[in-house]
Amino acid sequence: MINVNDRNLIKKAIEKINKLSEKVDKLKIMHVCGSHEHTICKYGIRDILPENITVIPGPGCPVCVTTQKEIDTAIYLADNGYVITTLGDMYRVPGSEKSLMEKQAEGCDVRIVYSISEAVKMAKKERDKKFVFVAIGFETTAPTTGAELISLKDKDIDNFFILNCHRQTPPIMEFLLSEKTYIDAFICPGHVSTITGLKPYYKPCEKYKVPMVVAGFEPIDVLMAIIMILKQVITENIKVENEYIRAVKPEGNVLAQKIINEVFESIDVPWRGFPIIKNGGFGLREKYKKFDIYEHEDIPEIKEKIPKGCICDKILRGEKLPTDCPLFGKVCNPLNPVGSCMVSDEGTCRIFYKYRRI
Ligand code: SF4
Repeated sequence: MINVNDRNLIKKAIEKINKLSEKVDKLKIMHVCGSHEHTICKYGIRDILPENITVIPGPGCPVCVTTQKEIDTAIYLADNGYVITTLGDMYRVPGSEKSLMEKQAEGCDVRIVYSISEAVKMAKKERDKKFVFVAIGFETTAPTTGAELISLKDKDIDNFFILNCHRQTPPIMEFLLSEKTYIDAFICPGHVSTITGLKPYYKPCEKYKVPMVVAGFEPIDVLMAIIMILKQVITENIKVENEYIRAVKPEGNVLAQKIINEVFESIDVPWRGFPIIKNGGFGLREKYKKFDIYEHEDIPEIKEKIPKGCICDKILRGEKLPTDCPLFGKVCNPLNPVGSCMVSDEGTCRIFYKYRRI
């Protein structure tokens, strides 16, 4: 096992990147995980990379990619007497007019919870109220939602629903490759890959001929992933590789996959900043539909109103950085987020703000 904090190893890795980079033209590597962006910003990894190697953030924050329509739907439900239970980050994301936090201040029953189980406990205790849990996240959180719904399936509970905003990561990567030829390689998300394993990356890797390397979250992990990508490009041996072997098994977490497959099926859904992504979401299977708020409530068509000047869409697509946004750090900051990317700890704008990459 390597010592991830070994300074000598990090120095050697940087030297290796410099040496290998002389053998390649320009290389644009995208990652799709807020935790990778944290490591990159916190340790100044962008600053030490050779000029021809760029690492760009993509759609790696579940809060950021949740659409404004979904936020507005939660707000509509809060307005119509539902108790909205949500994780802290979602509470502050602006909808087209207001956030859930502002609706709470107006008197709506909006409660921050740490997990879906906490929301279920509340629903069981307060039978006279209808509860909605805003279920967000990628493959890492879908199993928790799934496990809770499995345990509730045959129970007598008719006042608990989810607003299902779960999404699948590999399809968005495939979409980006199909649309954006400027991405030369992917650093694949470590957390998501602990669940999915390596399998979902094989097809896009082969189809688009781009290196895909699963990486961990220490600086040395990111540097090693860049070295592995460079080597693949130089030797023209493009493949899926796993740098994060201490956490990611090739087959992933089989139990979590079973839970996901029991409760969810792949559906086409829009992501913020993107059109409808084929298989980009997790839809509830028929036997779990009774928990789907869309089945229970007739929700009117809601039109999105993206705030003027906000370029979250371009940031999520890897076309721009937060520093390209005229509102960044001025009108838009963590206390007054204009777009979703400034709200969550995983959001690119929030991370840039935190580490002052201005
Ligand atoms: Fe949107 Fe704020 Fe980021 Fe600009 S800085 S893109 S307004 S979240």
